[in-house]
Amino acid sequence: MSDVIHKVKAGETLGAIANQNGITLAQLLAANPAISNPNQISVGQEITIPTTQGSSSGSGSTAGTITAGRLDSVFGFAVEQRDIPRKGGQPFIPISRTQIGVLHTTENGSLESSFKSLRDQFSAPHFVIGEGRIIQCRPLTAQGSALHGDAPCRANQAAVQIEMAAFTGGGHDGSTTTNLWLPKDDVLLPTVAIMAFCAGNGIDIPLQVPKEEWKDDASDMPLPWARKGNSRRIAAAAGDFPTRKGWWMHVEVPCQGPTWHHDCGRLRRREMIAKAQELLNP
Ligand SMILES: [Zn+2]
Repeated sequence: MSDVIHKVKAGETLGAIANQNGITLAQLLAANPAISNPNQISVGQEITIPTTQGSSSGSGSTAGTITAGRLDSVFGFAVEQRDIPRKGGQPFIPISRTQIGVLHTTENGSLESSFKSLRDQFSAPHFVIGEGRIIQCRPLTAQGSALHGDAPCRANQAAVQIEMAAFTGGGHDGSTTTNLWLPKDDVLLPTVAIMAFCAGNGIDIPLQVPKEEWKDDASDMPLPWARKGNSRRIAAAAGDFPTRKGWWMHVEVPCQGPTWHHDCGRLRRREMIAKAQELLNP
Protein backbone atom coordinates (compact mmCIF):
# COMPACT_ATOMS: atom_id res chain seq x y z
CA MET A 1 0.00 0.00 0.00
CA SER A 2 1.36 3.41 -0.86
CA ASP A 3 0.84 6.63 1.04
CA VAL A 4 -1.96 8.99 0.06
CA ILE A 5 -1.48 12.67 -0.74
CA HIS A 6 -4.00 15.09 0.75
CA LYS A 7 -4.34 18.70 -0.44
CA VAL A 8 -5.07 21.08 2.42
CA LYS A 9 -8.42 22.85 2.19
CA ALA A 10 -9.34 26.17 3.82
CA GLY A 11 -9.88 25.88 7.54
CA GLU A 12 -8.23 22.48 7.92
CA THR A 13 -5.68 21.76 10.61
CA LEU A 14 -3.15 18.95 10.78
CA GLY A 15 -4.94 17.60 13.83
CA ALA A 16 -8.25 17.45 11.94
CA ILE A 17 -6.61 15.79 8.93
CA ALA A 18 -5.03 13.20 11.22
CA ASN A 19 -8.41 12.56 12.87
CA GLN A 20 -10.18 12.12 9.53
CA ASN A 21 -7.65 9.50 8.56
CA GLY A 22 -7.66 7.61 11.83
CA ILE A 23 -4.05 8.37 12.69
CA THR A 24 -2.39 10.44 15.37
CA LEU A 25 -0.90 13.87 14.78
CA ALA A 26 2.49 12.39 15.67
CA GLN A 27 2.14 9.78 12.91
CA LEU A 28 1.12 12.47 10.43
CA LEU A 29 4.09 14.65 11.35
CA ALA A 30 6.46 11.69 11.10
CA ALA A 31 5.31 11.17 7.51
CA ASN A 32 5.85 14.85 6.73
CA PRO A 33 9.31 15.77 8.03
CA ALA A 34 9.34 18.97 5.95
CA ILE A 35 6.69 20.48 8.23
CA SER A 36 8.63 22.25 10.97
CA ASN A 37 5.69 24.15 12.43
CA PRO A 38 2.45 22.12 12.56
CA ASN A 39 0.45 25.35 12.99
CA GLN A 40 1.65 26.80 9.71
CA ILE A 41 0.16 24.93 6.80
CA SER A 42 -1.34 26.56 3.75
CA VAL A 43 -4.30 25.89 1.51
CA GLY A 44 -3.29 23.63 -1.38
CA GLN A 45 -0.24 22.29 0.47
CA GLU A 46 0.28 18.56 -0.16
CA ILE A 47 0.34 16.42 2.98
CA THR A 48 1.37 12.79 3.00
CA ILE A 49 -1.14 10.54 4.77
CA PRO A 50 0.82 7.49 5.87
CA THR A 51 -0.62 4.02 5.79
CA THR A 52 -0.63 2.85 9.36
CA GLN A 53 -0.01 -0.79 8.44
CA GLY A 54 2.36 -2.31 10.96
CA SER A 55 3.12 0.99 12.65
CA SER A 56 0.80 0.90 15.63
CA SER A 57 3.30 0.19 18.36
CA GLY A 58 2.45 -0.15 22.01
CA SER A 59 -1.10 -1.32 21.49
CA GLY A 60 -2.95 -1.61 24.77
CA SER A 61 -0.48 0.65 26.53
CA THR A 62 -1.88 3.72 28.19
CA ALA A 63 1.50 5.41 28.26
CA GLY A 64 1.22 6.86 24.76
CA THR A 65 3.54 6.66 21.79
CA ILE A 66 6.46 8.77 20.68
CA THR A 67 7.38 9.44 17.06
CA ALA A 68 10.38 11.56 16.08
CA GLY A 69 10.45 13.00 19.58
CA ARG A 70 6.78 13.94 19.61
CA LEU A 71 4.20 12.44 21.93
CA ASP A 72 0.66 11.80 20.77
CA SER A 73 -0.73 11.25 24.24
CA VAL A 74 0.53 10.34 27.67
CA PHE A 75 -1.45 8.34 30.24
CA GLY A 76 -4.74 9.59 28.81
CA PHE A 77 -3.74 13.23 28.31
CA ALA A 78 -3.67 14.37 24.69
CA VAL A 79 -0.48 16.17 23.70
CA GLU A 80 -0.98 19.20 21.46
CA GLN A 81 1.88 19.93 19.06
CA ARG A 82 2.48 23.69 18.84
CA ASP A 83 6.10 24.43 18.06
CA ILE A 84 7.77 27.57 19.36
CA PRO A 85 10.37 28.53 16.75
CA ARG A 86 13.86 29.68 17.56
CA LYS A 87 14.57 33.37 17.05
CA GLY A 88 14.91 34.09 13.34
CA GLY A 89 13.50 30.69 12.49
CA GLN A 90 16.83 28.94 12.99
CA PRO A 91 16.68 25.15 12.97
CA PHE A 92 16.26 23.29 16.25
CA ILE A 93 19.50 22.21 17.92
CA PRO A 94 19.72 18.43 18.20
CA ILE A 95 20.58 17.06 21.63
CA SER A 96 22.13 13.98 23.10
CA ARG A 97 20.27 12.38 25.99
CA THR A 98 21.42 13.30 29.49
CA GLN A 99 18.79 11.50 31.62
CA ILE A 100 18.00 14.86 33.19
CA GLY A 101 14.64 16.56 33.41
CA VAL A 102 14.15 20.14 34.59
CA LEU A 103 10.98 21.42 36.27
CA HIS A 104 9.97 25.07 36.02
CA THR A 105 6.91 27.17 36.69
CA THR A 106 5.77 30.27 34.86
CA GLU A 107 4.40 33.50 36.26
CA ASN A 108 1.29 33.31 34.14
CA GLY A 109 -2.00 32.04 35.46
CA SER A 110 -3.31 30.34 32.35
CA LEU A 111 -1.92 27.85 29.89
CA GLU A 112 -2.43 30.16 26.91
CA SER A 113 -0.83 33.18 28.56
CA SER A 114 2.13 31.04 29.64
CA PHE A 115 2.49 29.67 26.12
CA LYS A 116 2.25 33.16 24.66
CA SER A 117 4.94 34.64 26.89
CA LEU A 118 7.30 31.76 26.17
CA ARG A 119 6.61 32.09 22.45
CA ASP A 120 7.12 35.86 22.51
CA GLN A 121 10.54 35.29 24.12
CA PHE A 122 11.36 32.38 21.77
CA SER A 123 12.01 30.56 25.04
CA ALA A 124 10.67 27.11 24.38
CA PRO A 125 10.56 24.30 26.89
CA HIS A 126 9.61 20.86 25.64
CA PHE A 127 6.24 20.97 27.39
CA VAL A 128 3.91 23.64 28.79
CA ILE A 129 1.32 22.18 31.16
CA GLY A 130 -1.84 23.63 32.67
CA GLU A 131 -5.62 23.35 32.85
CA GLY A 132 -5.35 19.59 32.36
CA ARG A 133 -3.64 20.08 29.00
CA ILE A 134 -0.16 19.51 27.59
CA ILE A 135 1.38 21.54 24.76
CA GLN A 136 4.61 20.19 23.27
CA CYS A 137 6.73 23.06 21.96
CA ARG A 138 9.84 21.16 20.86
CA PRO A 139 10.46 17.56 19.87
CA LEU A 140 12.36 15.65 22.54
CA THR A 141 15.21 15.31 20.07
CA ALA A 142 15.79 19.09 20.16
CA GLN A 143 17.20 21.45 22.74
CA GLY A 144 14.86 23.17 25.17
CA SER A 145 15.66 26.65 26.46
CA ALA A 146 16.49 25.65 30.04
CA LEU A 147 20.22 25.64 29.58
CA HIS A 148 22.36 28.44 28.37
CA GLY A 149 25.57 27.85 26.48
CA ASP A 150 28.16 28.65 29.16
CA ALA A 151 30.30 25.96 30.79
CA PRO A 152 29.49 23.53 32.32
CA CYS A 153 26.27 23.65 30.28
CA ARG A 154 26.47 23.06 26.61
CA ALA A 155 23.60 23.95 24.37
CA ASN A 156 23.22 20.43 23.08
CA GLN A 157 22.99 18.96 26.57
CA ALA A 158 19.61 20.44 27.30
CA ALA A 159 17.37 17.95 29.03
CA VAL A 160 13.62 17.42 29.00
CA GLN A 161 12.17 20.70 30.17
CA ILE A 162 8.67 21.13 31.61
CA GLU A 163 7.03 24.50 32.30
CA MET A 164 4.11 24.27 34.70
CA ALA A 165 1.61 27.09 34.21
CA ALA A 166 0.15 28.82 37.29
CA PHE A 167 2.87 30.16 39.47
CA THR A 168 2.13 29.13 43.01
CA GLY A 169 5.54 28.33 44.36
CA GLY A 170 8.68 30.37 44.05
CA GLY A 171 9.32 34.01 43.50
CA HIS A 172 12.29 35.80 42.10
CA ASP A 173 13.14 37.46 45.42
CA GLY A 174 12.67 34.47 47.68
CA SER A 175 9.93 36.16 49.68
CA THR A 176 7.05 34.07 48.40
CA THR A 177 8.65 30.69 48.84
CA THR A 178 8.25 30.01 52.51
CA ASN A 179 5.69 27.23 52.15
CA LEU A 180 6.10 23.77 50.72
CA TRP A 181 3.76 23.48 47.79
CA LEU A 182 2.34 21.13 45.21
CA PRO A 183 0.76 22.27 41.93
CA LYS A 184 -3.01 22.03 41.64
CA ASP A 185 -4.26 18.78 40.10
CA ASP A 186 -4.82 20.29 36.66
CA VAL A 187 -1.09 21.01 36.53
CA LEU A 188 0.14 18.22 38.76
CA LEU A 189 -1.44 15.24 37.01
CA PRO A 190 -0.32 15.99 33.43
CA THR A 191 3.16 16.85 34.73
CA VAL A 192 3.39 13.56 36.60
CA ALA A 193 2.22 11.75 33.45
CA ILE A 194 5.10 13.25 31.44
CA MET A 195 7.56 12.36 34.21
CA ALA A 196 6.33 8.75 34.24
CA PHE A 197 6.57 8.51 30.46
CA CYS A 198 10.10 9.93 30.49
CA ALA A 199 11.21 7.25 32.96
CA GLY A 200 11.32 4.88 29.98
CA ASN A 201 10.63 5.06 26.27
CA GLY A 202 14.27 5.71 25.39
CA ILE A 203 14.37 8.89 27.46
CA ASP A 204 15.12 7.11 30.73
CA ILE A 205 15.14 9.93 33.26
CA PRO A 206 15.20 8.15 36.63
CA LEU A 207 12.33 9.00 38.98
CA GLN A 208 14.52 10.48 41.68
CA VAL A 209 15.85 13.72 43.11
CA PRO A 210 19.34 14.06 41.60
CA LYS A 211 20.95 14.47 45.00
CA GLU A 212 19.54 13.21 48.30
CA GLU A 213 20.75 16.31 50.21
CA TRP A 214 18.48 18.51 48.09
CA LYS A 215 15.51 18.60 50.45
CA ASP A 216 12.10 19.67 49.25
CA ASP A 217 12.01 22.32 52.01
CA ALA A 218 15.33 23.71 50.72
CA SER A 219 16.75 23.65 54.27
CA ASP A 220 20.12 22.77 52.74
CA MET A 221 20.18 26.06 50.85
CA PRO A 222 20.07 29.46 52.59
CA LEU A 223 18.24 32.40 51.00
CA PRO A 224 18.54 34.27 48.76
CA TRP A 225 18.31 31.57 46.12
CA ALA A 226 18.12 33.67 42.98
CA ARG A 227 21.85 34.00 42.54
CA LYS A 228 24.74 32.23 40.97
CA GLY A 229 26.28 31.40 44.34
CA ASN A 230 23.52 29.39 46.00
CA SER A 231 24.92 26.16 47.38
CA ARG A 232 23.13 23.87 44.91
CA ARG A 233 24.33 25.83 41.92
CA ILE A 234 27.89 25.88 43.27
CA ALA A 235 27.74 22.09 43.60
CA ALA A 236 26.17 21.74 40.18
CA ALA A 237 28.89 23.81 38.56
CA ALA A 238 31.54 21.83 40.44
CA GLY A 239 30.43 18.55 38.96
CA ASP A 240 26.87 17.60 39.84
CA PHE A 241 25.68 18.81 36.46
CA PRO A 242 25.14 16.87 34.25
CA THR A 243 26.39 13.78 36.01
CA ARG A 244 23.48 13.42 38.45
CA LYS A 245 20.42 12.01 36.77
CA GLY A 246 16.82 12.64 37.72
CA TRP A 247 14.41 15.57 37.94
CA TRP A 248 16.17 18.86 38.64
CA MET A 249 14.48 22.16 39.46
CA HIS A 250 15.47 25.48 38.02
CA VAL A 251 16.98 26.61 41.33
CA GLU A 252 19.68 23.95 40.92
CA VAL A 253 20.54 24.29 37.26
CA PRO A 254 23.78 26.16 36.57
CA CYS A 255 24.21 28.68 33.74
CA GLN A 256 20.98 30.61 34.38
CA GLY A 257 22.29 34.15 34.14
CA PRO A 258 21.31 36.91 34.05
CA THR A 259 18.26 36.25 36.25
CA TRP A 260 19.39 33.14 38.18
CA HIS A 261 15.74 32.60 39.03
CA HIS A 262 14.43 29.76 41.13
CA ASP A 263 10.77 29.58 40.22
CA CYS A 264 9.82 26.21 41.74
CA GLY A 265 10.79 27.23 45.26
CA ARG A 266 9.90 24.68 47.94
CA LEU A 267 8.19 22.29 45.55
CA ARG A 268 7.19 18.93 47.05
CA ARG A 269 9.21 17.24 44.35
CA ARG A 270 9.42 13.88 46.09
CA GLU A 271 5.63 13.61 46.14
CA MET A 272 5.52 14.29 42.40
CA ILE A 273 8.11 11.57 41.84
CA ALA A 274 6.12 9.15 44.01
CA LYS A 275 2.96 9.90 42.00
CA ALA A 276 4.82 9.16 38.76
CA GLN A 277 5.96 5.84 40.25
CA GLU A 278 2.34 5.01 41.13
CA LEU A 279 1.31 5.62 37.53
CA LEU A 280 3.89 3.11 36.35
CA ASN A 281 3.21 0.55 39.09
CA PRO A 282 -0.40 0.91 40.14
ZN1 LIG B 1 12.54 28.45 35.36
